[in-house]
Amino acid sequence: MADIKKETMRKLLAKLAESMTLVGPSDNGKVVEYKKTDADSVLMDDRISYKSPKEFYFPQTEKLLTFSRDEAVENTDVPPTVIFGAKPCDLEALRVMNAVFMEGRYADPFFDRHMSQNLIIGVGCLKKKPGCFCDELGLDMEFSDFCDIMLTDTGDTYKVEHLSEKGEKALAQLPETAKVTCANKRTAKKPDGDVIGLSADIEDITLFDSVNWSDLTATCQGCGMCTYICPTCHCFEFKDVSKDGCVERYRCWDSCIYPKFTLHASGHNPRASRADRYRQRVLHKYLYVKKNTGHAACTGCGRCLRSCPVGVNIKTVAKAVMEVAK
Ligand code: SF4
Ligand code: SF4
Repeated sequence: MADIKKETMRKLLAKLAESMTLVGPSDNGKVVEYKKTDADSVLMDDRISYKSPKEFYFPQTEKLLTFSRDEAVENTDVPPTVIFGAKPCDLEALRVMNAVFMEGRYADPFFDRHMSQNLIIGVGCLKKKPGCFCDELGLDMEFSDFCDIMLTDTGDTYKVEHLSEKGEKALAQLPETAKVTCANKRTAKKPDGDVIGLSADIEDITLFDSVNWSDLTATCQGCGMCTYICPTCHCFEFKDVSKDGCVERYRCWDSCIYPKFTLHASGHNPRASRADRYRQRVLHKYLYVKKNTGHAACTGCGRCLRSCPVGVNIKTVAKAVMEVAK
């Protein structure tokens, strides 16, 4: 690892922003949000943004194709983007998303384009924030290797290490006086282990009736905020829009919390109640994705807890399920 001053990091970001879009945590006066910004405005403190950087590699609305009677043209217009300041929980979420979109039977070319165009600069957390529980899931709040450059905040400076060729090339743009050789030497610490993790051996069907899902989710309003704000939620639908004699096909985020998500054309809905849908959310996160990819689809970022208008706490629900599953 090498140390560079935060002001030098700003200069590097300014240099990178000459040819790439820069996004990072910014204070809009009410909340810290992830947005397109400039090197002078990007936050370099330990606050966590209310949303994760997910929309910059899995946009909320993304044009996939334009098609006419004769041809379909894929949208390959993905702007190269520097994502600065991603927290370890968000980097672990990106690992989950990458496993879902790239390591299954089919690789998603649109997600792949974002991954190859983006330069991701992570920053370790200095302390847990209210609602965070990454450590209870066995994750290291200071470090993740699922990025190009990892920073450790030491006050006026960052300890810097690169974890990819892309990261190394970016650091080569530092001014001559600040040039650093800083290949990664670290691996993530394993804190106390995963205290929530549902074992992949559990038969999910046994949890359908043995857990009182209605009681656990009685206050849920079905607004879907928790799914939109979650860095690992990745459900989507397609929308076709007519434009200039052609049709444009968009991929848009969807949510398993909404009643129409599983509504069949016949009118039958296999997840008719809100409790059924929240059950799907919990078991998908802690069981199904884990069975499919080896990673739970929750990184304990705490965003859903902090944003739920009625205080539903997925950790409490998951722990209650775990008690029944033991
Ligand atoms: S944010 Fe809260 S109220 Fe809204 S769907 Fe999620 S758990 Fe339910
Ligand atoms: S389920 Fe909640 S705590 Fe877990 S990753 Fe998603 S937003 Fe974060």
